[in-house]
Amino acid sequence: MEKYILKCLLCGKEYEDDYLRLDCDENHKPSLLRTMYKNSKFSVKKDNPGMFKFVDFLPVERTLDVKGAPVTYKSERSAHHLGLKNLFFIFNGYWPEKNAYMETASFKELEAPSVLGRVPENHNGTIVVASAGNTGRAFAHICSKNRIPLVLIIPEMNVNEIWSVEPFRENVKLICASGDSDYSDAIKLAGKISGMDGYFPEGGAKNVARRDGMATTILDAAHTIGRMPDHYFQAIGSGTGGIAAWESYNRLHGNGNYGDGVMKLHLSQNYPFIPMVDAWNKKLDTIPPMDEEKAKDDIHHIRAKVLSNRKPPYSIRGGVYDVLKASSGAMYSVMNDEVAEAQQLFEKLEKIDIHPAAGVAFGSLLQAIEKKSVHESDYIAVNITGGGEKRVKQDNDIYYLKPGFLFTDEEINSEEIDRKIEDILMTV
Ligand SMILES: [Zn+2]
Repeated sequence: MEKYILKCLLCGKEYEDDYLRLDCDENHKPSLLRTMYKNSKFSVKKDNPGMFKFVDFLPVERTLDVKGAPVTYKSERSAHHLGLKNLFFIFNGYWPEKNAYMETASFKELEAPSVLGRVPENHNGTIVVASAGNTGRAFAHICSKNRIPLVLIIPEMNVNEIWSVEPFRENVKLICASGDSDYSDAIKLAGKISGMDGYFPEGGAKNVARRDGMATTILDAAHTIGRMPDHYFQAIGSGTGGIAAWESYNRLHGNGNYGDGVMKLHLSQNYPFIPMVDAWNKKLDTIPPMDEEKAKDDIHHIRAKVLSNRKPPYSIRGGVYDVLKASSGAMYSVMNDEVAEAQQLFEKLEKIDIHPAAGVAFGSLLQAIEKKSVHESDYIAVNITGGGEKRVKQDNDIYYLKPGFLFTDEEINSEEIDRKIEDILMTV
């Protein structure tokens, strides 16, 4: 018997997994598919590598050589400072004293292994990933370590984000969108390449493996705390992590082990680039079209550069709008100086550095306390989506991946782009 099936959240059609499926075949509005695991309970398989200890709720064919897994712990110092009794951090990063070994210091190390493990070992296509930075770093690191071929596309301005504690192997290729290009140009380029013979797209939010990989944060939190949190805080770029958290909550809700309370989602973005906050506050179920120039300019002005997805899965069935609504959730806009202060406060109290995006999440908790949206005894979980980068760089030699090719904005939008890509792929 298969461990799971895929179910369309709009029409209910069910599919056996062919390991690459991203969409429903029916002709209807866009909808996510969701993995439905036949066994509603999970047990932690301690002997599996890293996050694969949650293999019961991962749509994977195999496990890979990885070290990272989410680490949930109860905060003492921050809890005391903020006047909270049950504050938990779900730490995704590098912090040896806490047994946290994500060597790229980011929760994206939960997505890459799950996405890659979903594809059978004998599959001979090459996965194509577009990234603003930390997703790419995770895929590059995990693919290199496990000798899985990868074509990675990132904006040139983020090239320094692609590093590893080990030298990169030849199976990992980097292509950059140069100059002023941003994440959406990288996505455009990745779309072209993944459509070519021998390549397939990683799929973003639509890939159930990506979401279920991130959903292990909730599995870890529920397992460690012994119940579901009342409040879950996370900063969002695409919102996939928020969707995943809600899906994970739904898997555990009602299975008898983790309580039957409602978990409220508190999702946040970094001002001035806050398309989902704006849409949610206006009660819109779609994001109005953005002015290209303004979006680029806003992205240049945010501290948490990874929170820069211009086409997030907000309005798709099962997407950010739906999960916020279902959880009676809230959204927060966090200013750059609040982010910086939150990062400093966290490091001072918890004794580990965190990424700006995690600072956005922690900053949103500070806002929620101010607004009295959370109470002293509530069970609160904050997803620290990246941390310990200073530590990992102190403890290890760091290697950077060099771009094999740079495409200009003009080239990406030109008519000869397809031919050009084919030429390039032969040489990189
Ligand atoms: Zn459907």
